[in-house]
Amino acid sequence: MTGTVYLVGAGPGAVDLLTLRAAKFLECADIVFHDALVPQEILLLASKAKKVEVGKRSGQYSTAQNFINKQLADAVRKHKVVVRLKGGDPMLFDRAHEEISYLRKKRVRFEVVPGITAALAASADLGVSLTRRGSARSVAFLTTRTAPGERPNEWIKAALAADTAVIYMGAGEADAIAQALIAAGKPSATPVALVENASLPTVRAFAGTLAQLPTLAARCGGGPVAILLGEVARDSAIIAAWPNEQSSSSPTARATRTGRARSSSS
Ligand code: SAH
Repeated sequence: MTGTVYLVGAGPGAVDLLTLRAAKFLECADIVFHDALVPQEILLLASKAKKVEVGKRSGQYSTAQNFINKQLADAVRKHKVVVRLKGGDPMLFDRAHEEISYLRKKRVRFEVVPGITAALAASADLGVSLTRRGSARSVAFLTTRTAPGERPNEWIKAALAADTAVIYMGAGEADAIAQALIAAGKPSATPVALVENASLPTVRAFAGTLAQLPTLAARCGGGPVAILLGEVARDSAIIAAWPNEQSSSSPTARATRTGRARSSSS
C-alpha cells in the first residue's frame, strides 16, 4: 500500500477553528503524528487512528526531526491516510519544510492543509485588526528564535519595517526583545498586546507599551503567547481592563465557549 501524508494545520486550539478539510482527513486517518500542543478534543476526531506524539515543547524532550521524517515516509507503506497534525498553520514556524523535502526525495505523495495561525486567532480574540486603512499596511510574522547553525535572524529589521509585527515564541524572551527593539529605535511607548491561549476558553490578554513588555509577559501563565506590536494594538488598551485574574469570565472566554462573537461593548 502507498498512502499519502497530509500535513494538516490544527489551528490555534479551538476545535471549531479546524477547517472542514482538516476534520475530514482526521476522521479518515489511519495514523496521526501530532505535536504536543494539539488539544485532546481535536485528536478525538481521529477516532480510528493510531496516535503518535512527535511534537516538541521548548525545554522538553524533542523527537529528532529526521526520525519524524522517516516515520512519515515509513507510515505510507502501511497506511492510506497518514496525518501529520501541527499547531496553527503547518507552513509557519514549523518544520514542514524539512518534512516536505524529505517526502519529495522519497517520492512520497503529500498534501498540505492550511490552518488558522496564532496571529490571526490573537487578532480575532482582541477584536483588533492587524491592518488599518491609512496607518497599518504591512504585517510581519516573526520569531526571534534561531536554530543552531542557522544564519543570523534579522527579525529586528522585519519588526522595524512592518507597521504591525506579530512575534511568535517570544514571551520567554520578552526582556531581550524589548531591549533590542528600543535600542534599534522603536519608541518605548509603542503599543503591545499579548494574547495567551488564543481561541481557547483559557484565553488571556495583556496590553501596554513596548517598555512594559517584560512585565506583561511575566503575567502570562505558561500557555502559548502571541505578541502584537504596533499602533493597531493601541485599541487593545481596553483589553487591559479585562478581568484577567479570573480569565474564565473574560468576554472572549465566554464568547469562545458559546461560539459567539465578542460583543463590541466588551
Ligand atoms: N505553526 C504555528 C506556530 C508554531 S510556533 C501557527 O501557525 O500558529 C509556536 C508559537 O505560536 C507559540 O510560542 C506562540 O507564540 C504561538 N501560538 C501557538 N498557539 C497559540 C495560541 N493558541 N495563542 C497564542 N499564541 C499561540
